[in-house]
Amino acid sequence: MHDLVIRQATVVDGTGGAPAVGDVAVDGERVTVVGEVDGRGRRELDGDGLLLAPGWVDIHTHYDGQATWDPEMTPSSWHGVTTVVMGNCGVGFAPVRPGAESFLIELMEGVEDIPGTALAEGIDWRWESFAQYLDALAATPRVLDVAAQVPHAAVRAYVMGDRAHDEASADDIAAMASLTEAALAAGAAGFTTSRTILHRSRHGLVPGTSAPPEELLAIGDAIGRAGHGVFEMVSDQAGTPTEQAWVVELAGRTGGNVTYALAQVGPDPTAYRTALAEAAACRRAGVGIVPQVSSRPTGMLFGLRSSLHPFITHPTFRELAGRPAPATPAGGPSLGALVARLGDPQVRARLLAEEPATANRVALTLMSRWDRIFRLGDPPDYEPSPDTSVAAVAARQGRRPEEVALDWLLERQGEALLFAPLASYVDGDHEAIREMLCHPSTVVGLSDGGAHCGLICDASMPTYLLTHWVRDRDRGQRLPLELAVHLQTARTAGVYGFHDRGVIAPGKRADLNLIDLDSLRLHAPEMVFDLPAGGRRLVQRVDGYRATVVAGQVTFEDGQPTGARPGRLVRSGPSGRPTG
Ligand SMILES: [Zn+2]
Repeated sequence: MHDLVIRQATVVDGTGGAPAVGDVAVDGERVTVVGEVDGRGRRELDGDGLLLAPGWVDIHTHYDGQATWDPEMTPSSWHGVTTVVMGNCGVGFAPVRPGAESFLIELMEGVEDIPGTALAEGIDWRWESFAQYLDALAATPRVLDVAAQVPHAAVRAYVMGDRAHDEASADDIAAMASLTEAALAAGAAGFTTSRTILHRSRHGLVPGTSAPPEELLAIGDAIGRAGHGVFEMVSDQAGTPTEQAWVVELAGRTGGNVTYALAQVGPDPTAYRTALAEAAACRRAGVGIVPQVSSRPTGMLFGLRSSLHPFITHPTFRELAGRPAPATPAGGPSLGALVARLGDPQVRARLLAEEPATANRVALTLMSRWDRIFRLGDPPDYEPSPDTSVAAVAARQGRRPEEVALDWLLERQGEALLFAPLASYVDGDHEAIREMLCHPSTVVGLSDGGAHCGLICDASMPTYLLTHWVRDRDRGQRLPLELAVHLQTARTAGVYGFHDRGVIAPGKRADLNLIDLDSLRLHAPEMVFDLPAGGRRLVQRVDGYRATVVAGQVTFEDGQPTGARPGRLVRSGPSGRPTG
């Protein structure tokens, strides 16, 4: 008698091997049989006509706060994610000195657009050291596994206090390295840093943004001494020769993987190819450089309640919606009232006669790149044809782009979202993304689950790999099912040394997704106000996950949580094998 048997499913086991119809038996937390299962199961699931894949391992999330208060870890858990890695991009909540908590909240709010009020109310700060933070995470039952990385900004603030944004002394660097080593010894999965001018808070750039290579190499040595840990980075210079020189050195010193965000960018649309070639050459030389790529363009979602849209700084809009735009529904008019006011011809005329009132050039550009703003629609289309942009439609109709954008924002009773791809959409399609996804040196990531609550919702990207890349794409080649599954399971798990998961095989953890691929469907993202203190966030629902299993327990069935909370903290260790 087995604990759980899934019968006659189309098993795609995560290795990249071809699909095979068969049974899978689970006993305790592990898969015990794959192929033909004779014995009965205490619980049996009929997999006939369904896809059975390993649980998704999402290595790029920002649930650092949410994981301490929310056992359901939505929206990632809705999308079959069974392991998340948090603490990316240099921001997080440990270590922290008593009294310095608000600084870390303000960083997270500024950089990752998670409402500070929600973080302040939700987090109970049972820790000071990173090890204590891990203990707090370990003490919270939840639906999926979490792994945490040490964020550079928190380490800098802990060591340097008010000087966190300044240049670090040799002593500061030594202290940061030893804190990092201690955190890794306690089970941290890696160390992360931000080197982009796009990541800002009210305090300016993220501490560590311009840290010289010496500082990061000292951290690399700490990772080397600890014997495990990924170095993750988001950088404006990603893959350029100047940066590559010390990043290769860094990877060598850590003895493990350095992963950095890679996308196709407008100013140099083929630079990503150089970066891919470099990564491949490093790999051949035994150096772990792993460009992290996403399965769709990182796209801002402009809606009337988003934190950015083309009219958000217009005086008339500010007057109607409240200024600044409220992050909670209590702070402004209802959406219905807002839509009604914007439907008034006089209000509309006044709004359209105005210009954006902001000196922020980046925001100004993002709000008015009309040839890069599309209807997202429902079902959402993340690969829209260039001739459907605001600019293209406005030109065909002989109208101003602003009029078209405003009409689109008012669709679906004001719930509509416009899709404004930021990167990897230079050619107006997903071909560059396909090239990056299919490259053997990359890893799929950048979902930013739990973050960018007012503007981006990419936690659904694991689902998108199946719906778009395997099944629906019609503007270019698709991906084979077994590759798409491999990318989000064995590949992501492997980069982080989570060798106990990511593959369906006897002895592996029973983290599984039973999916009706034919009916798998992403809904349009929606704005909800369910964070602590009524905080705002974009979420995206999905149909088609028949069951998700974590450590042998069914956590979700047909989209509903079962109440089981088998998820735990993954502590990484020198063997590369995570321990409980
Ligand atoms: Zn991030």
